[in-house]
Amino acid sequence: MTSRANPVRLKIPQEHLIGRIDGLHEGPALICIAGLHGNEPLGLNALLQVFSDLRHLQQRMSGSFVALAGNLAALRAGQRFLDEDLNRIWKEEDLERLKTSAPSSGSERREQEQLFGLLDRLLSEPNGEKYFLDLHTSSAAGSPFAIFSDSLRNRDFARWFPSTKILGLEELLDGPLLDYVGSRGAVTLGFEAGQHEDPQSVEIHAAAIWVGLVTAGLLSAGDCPQYKNGLRRLLRAARPGPRIVDVHYRHPVRVSDQFRMMAGFSNFQPVKRDQVLAGDFRGPVKAPREGLILMPLYQEQGQDGFFLVRTVSPFWLGVSRLLRHLPLDYLLRLLPGIHTVAKRPHALDVKPQTLRWLTLDLFHLLGYRKRRRNGSFIRFTKRGFDLKSPFQPSKPKRER
Ligand SMILES: [Zn+2]
Repeated sequence: MTSRANPVRLKIPQEHLIGRIDGLHEGPALICIAGLHGNEPLGLNALLQVFSDLRHLQQRMSGSFVALAGNLAALRAGQRFLDEDLNRIWKEEDLERLKTSAPSSGSERREQEQLFGLLDRLLSEPNGEKYFLDLHTSSAAGSPFAIFSDSLRNRDFARWFPSTKILGLEELLDGPLLDYVGSRGAVTLGFEAGQHEDPQSVEIHAAAIWVGLVTAGLLSAGDCPQYKNGLRRLLRAARPGPRIVDVHYRHPVRVSDQFRMMAGFSNFQPVKRDQVLAGDFRGPVKAPREGLILMPLYQEQGQDGFFLVRTVSPFWLGVSRLLRHLPLDYLLRLLPGIHTVAKRPHALDVKPQTLRWLTLDLFHLLGYRKRRRNGSFIRFTKRGFDLKSPFQPSKPKRER
């Protein structure tokens, strides 16, 4: 239950900025946030632990490590959120509202205002590539996984984490923080360590942060014994089988649905088509197709009942990488029924009829994963900065 009191003894930080460690040389920045959901404090435990260990390695570090705490009021209350989900209010219209001087109402809007100012400053710093790691835990058990939106830069960062990687989840969520940070050009990764109350989630999160520190190039693997231990820890916790999956279904949930997940599902458990997974006020909720279940909702608060994922073949990932280096994008815009969108270089408006003969998979391959109805069109959006960073990239030093 989300209203359950904080399960670990943890001093909730007073401010969003927990601390910052600057290395001796200029370099990339790794910004790490935990506790964006107030009932997920274990990521904060890990972050504080890594932060204190990292001080001893400062002399060998390049660039900056920044530790942030998410929803402070909700963390104190031990609830996912108080008024609204802090990880679902980073849509364009929300950001527009932030830029006006109207006072924010509601606990999360106030938290957002502070985080927005802080992130804006951090992401405006001129030196080096920016990496962003967002730590979460879930109400269901199961092996850890990484979430990222499908840009090649994000893929290149994520591939060094020996955990299952989820493609296309971030694009199905409305207004997650990673969306905003990614739109500013940072390389982003969300990391789900395990169950909210499981002490192992702390170790897994700490391991992911160490892997992030070396992969981002703040430390070399040789200078950081925690890196190898971290890799081993993530490997031990990893799910056997293919490491990359694609989300193909999301079951949205509203409070009025009275959604109740059936007991006993864990992340990546296979389910059959028409298998009863949950119930709501309409009756049984069945799986619309077969797949692996992800993040079945075992808490009261949350807008996603469950997701279904399927394995992606590395062959198709290779094909899509190749395609994105070709000018296919421009050719697509010449086809009938496909229109460019003014002031939005990463968006395409597509007539539904066109989608009958052009497959959705083609848009996915080219990185257009976000899909929204826009009048008589379907608007596809892809992540900006797919291949090139807007930051002056500093040479990552990587010794493996
Ligand atoms: Zn979360």
